[in-house]
Amino acid sequence: MSLKDTFKKKTVFSLEVYPPKTPEGTKKLVNALTGIKRIKPDFISITLGAGGSQNNNALELSSMIQNDLNIPAMAHIPGIYRSKKDVADFLKQLKQHNINNVLALRGDINPDETPVGDFNHASELAEFIKTQGDFDITGACYPQKHPESVDLVDDTLHLKEKVDNGVGHLITQMVFDNQAFYDFRQRLKLAGINVPVEVGIMPCTNCNQIKHITELSGLEMPRKFVDIMNKYANNKEAMRDAGIAYAVDQIVDLVANGVDGIHLYTMNNTYVAKKIWEATHSLFEATSYQLQHPSLSGSDNQ
Ligand code: FAD
Repeated sequence: MSLKDTFKKKTVFSLEVYPPKTPEGTKKLVNALTGIKRIKPDFISITLGAGGSQNNNALELSSMIQNDLNIPAMAHIPGIYRSKKDVADFLKQLKQHNINNVLALRGDINPDETPVGDFNHASELAEFIKTQGDFDITGACYPQKHPESVDLVDDTLHLKEKVDNGVGHLITQMVFDNQAFYDFRQRLKLAGINVPVEVGIMPCTNCNQIKHITELSGLEMPRKFVDIMNKYANNKEAMRDAGIAYAVDQIVDLVANGVDGIHLYTMNNTYVAKKIWEATHSLFEATSYQLQHPSLSGSDNQ
């Protein structure tokens, strides 16, 4: 089933993983994913370094997910340091492994590296991918705006361009404050951006990691979240449990408010992914029923 059709049937639940550096690490991750297979995510996305050196690890992991676990894989493709030929070759390899879901990205800028110049923005990459075969193209979005954007209006206009160029589904950067997402959803409606949007949820189980990511992204953290980090930073187990509870709380509210999907940034922590799924799976199953019987549903799924 295409992703487009999946969004029509239910509130989507997906995971994101990154390729481990060694073949042993990949095997270990795939084993762990096999263990959580009954979660049945609608797809698993696989990150790829912007620099262009890790294609093989990502391809191998994507293929195992798609072909061995039988879970649709979505390959990330950052374009800024890749040529048209690099991307065309990677797409060909993906097709050979039966993968047709891709996340078209610009990639993070590395001040020490010169962009190739073929894809300065994700919208250009999406346009190119469309010419390379039957790919289902997803894009990234930023409810509190991309840190390089001058303002929300500029950011929204560029996002519209990306969707007009062939992006059929969006995944947000990690969201810690649901209200920021609801405000964003209103802006999308005003701008005529009508594709499904999944909300990126990052369970806060490692304070240093979160601090690093939020510094880079310039995200403002809700007070409740900062309180948790301050209180439990030095207690691994308590931090993990509080992070899981915070993520579950967010998901309950988001699904109740009719979001199109939840994309869990797992950071390869399958234990946490499993715990979150166990606490929320009935909510996703309920949306499947509601979407097929809209007269029984009070929610607005736009
Ligand atoms: P773009 O859509 O190109 O936007 C980047 C900036 O340029 C924005 O400010 C936008 O408003 C502006 N802009 C867009 N079009 C134009 C235009 N025509 N003229 C002027 N300005 C314009 N990075 C990786 O390297 N590997 C990954 O695997 C990866 N996975 C990610 C997954 C998700 C879900 C998300 C949200 C991000 C991911 N990233 C990844 C990070 C991403 O590459 C960075 O956030 C990057 O800085 C922007 O990528 P983008 O695709 O959103 O870029």
